[in-house]
Amino acid sequence: MDRLVVISPAPTANGDLHLGHLAGPFLAADVCTRYARATGREALYGTGMHFTQNYVVAAAERLGVAPEDLRERSSEQVLRTFAAMGVEIDGFGCLGDRFTALVTGFYERLHRRGLLELRTVAFPYLRSTGEYLMDAYVTGGCPFCLAEGCAGICESCGLPIAPGDLIGPRSTARPDEPLEIREVDILVFPVERYRAQLEEYFARTPMRPGMARLIGSALARPLPDFPITQPASWGIPAPFPEVAGQVFYAHMEGMPWSMFTTALGAERRGAVLSSDDELWRSGAGTTVVYFLGLDATYPFAIVGTALLTALGEHVLPAQYLTNEFYELASEKFSTSRGHVVSGRELATEVPRDLIRFHLCATSPEYQRTDFTREALARVGETRLTGPWNRVAAAVDRWVDRGPLPVSAEARRTAKRMVERFADAYELPRFSLTAAASTLAEQLGRLDRLASSVTEGTAGDLCHQVEVFLRCAAPILIDLAAAALPDTMLPGHPDADTVTPKRLPRLSVTAPPKRPNVAFGASNAPNVAFGASNAPNVAFGASNAPNVAFGASNATNATLGRTGPAGATAR
Ligand SMILES: [Zn+2]
Repeated sequence: MDRLVVISPAPTANGDLHLGHLAGPFLAADVCTRYARATGREALYGTGMHFTQNYVVAAAERLGVAPEDLRERSSEQVLRTFAAMGVEIDGFGCLGDRFTALVTGFYERLHRRGLLELRTVAFPYLRSTGEYLMDAYVTGGCPFCLAEGCAGICESCGLPIAPGDLIGPRSTARPDEPLEIREVDILVFPVERYRAQLEEYFARTPMRPGMARLIGSALARPLPDFPITQPASWGIPAPFPEVAGQVFYAHMEGMPWSMFTTALGAERRGAVLSSDDELWRSGAGTTVVYFLGLDATYPFAIVGTALLTALGEHVLPAQYLTNEFYELASEKFSTSRGHVVSGRELATEVPRDLIRFHLCATSPEYQRTDFTREALARVGETRLTGPWNRVAAAVDRWVDRGPLPVSAEARRTAKRMVERFADAYELPRFSLTAAASTLAEQLGRLDRLASSVTEGTAGDLCHQVEVFLRCAAPILIDLAAAALPDTMLPGHPDADTVTPKRLPRLSVTAPPKRPNVAFGASNAPNVAFGASNAPNVAFGASNAPNVAFGASNATNATLGRTGPAGATAR
């Protein structure tokens, strides 16, 4: 059994996704999954929503809403954005009883085998609220790269920052109040113990330059113990008596969450599993690939791999395709400052195929890249809609005059085109920018061919256009769905005749009535959101991901807001 599992770490439930998120991991994972499926592989795509990071609480406080409401609202928005952009999710893993049981079971196994250790750790402490500060609650300088930011994982260099190690720590909510440093016993995972296995693993794992730099700099010094529990109240309660009242550190849910979202995705596709980690078990025939930002890489790739190595029961991920920052007009996207473009809103103005193409072409795979509406319009017209519409018009002239003969040379060219696209889509070298540039190159070539087409070459043109559309289908989802009976690859590049069919055109503006759908095709997002009662999200169609929300009562019960650790709700 050969199965590809594609995972993008769940975004924090503190708002909707913006274009930066989409151009980073989420569109890439969608294109990768669609291509794998088109070439006949079993593939599934899992992501979800991260509810337990204290960023949710901090954002809710800023917005003046209850964190529980913010996380439900964020999930709904994110699912709508995925649907609007044609990002097809199989498993959408969120907090709920099943997930809580999986996380707890995962760490109980490590705990039983003595693989977690109790350590005394220093935390900044806010006397007025009785809170230990971590992650979103405390800012200061990164001890490694000196950038200002929160504790947890440094947004700038990607290395873990213990709250007690921040340079000049300040409370995020009460920056003027002096902080004490207090010591607390927490459970940690001693990552350094797995150095030899990690070095061997990363030596054979393909990495983009940003990740190679991060891993190199992490391995250049002793790998710090990574917290498993935290003296906090927002999170999944940890059941270990020596850290009574603490919760699991949100970053440490990543591995069991990955297994959970895989199980949800497989179930949506008809699998019946005997356990939630069944498809991750050694020998299950699963290849796991992550698409993620550099700031999620340390907990997943280093700590996650070390955890799986310690347990010794599961496959290790085959690859991590990392991305750098995607900016808006040369500035970071910022929801709080309103410097943001939402994919959902943009899809009401521009057909999503154009947006998908542009995000692929400018994807921040190797360095920081930039979005502007001006470039979207100009590049979309010159490299995609203009040439495509001329090619479609040329093909239309031969409709009802087929079947037309296809020359041996056109068959060879079509096969070469399939190989050229495969170079961009196939792992381990998968690259959205390479796929988009191949798409534009090949379309430009077909445009030149179309401008001089004759009765003798019409079959060659129509054949190559059909093969081109299949190759472009993982990106141009609506165009392909409207033009092709199926989007399987390679199709029939060696066919010796072709029957031309009328082709849809691409527009630079979305039709007003059905904003998210360029052609009204069967791929249309068919998502119906129900009322606010549980279940919170009701999907109308089989296209919908398998969403696991606990009933809202159960979910709220898992996140106690006060706990015996002495922390109070913010
Ligand atoms: Zn840093």
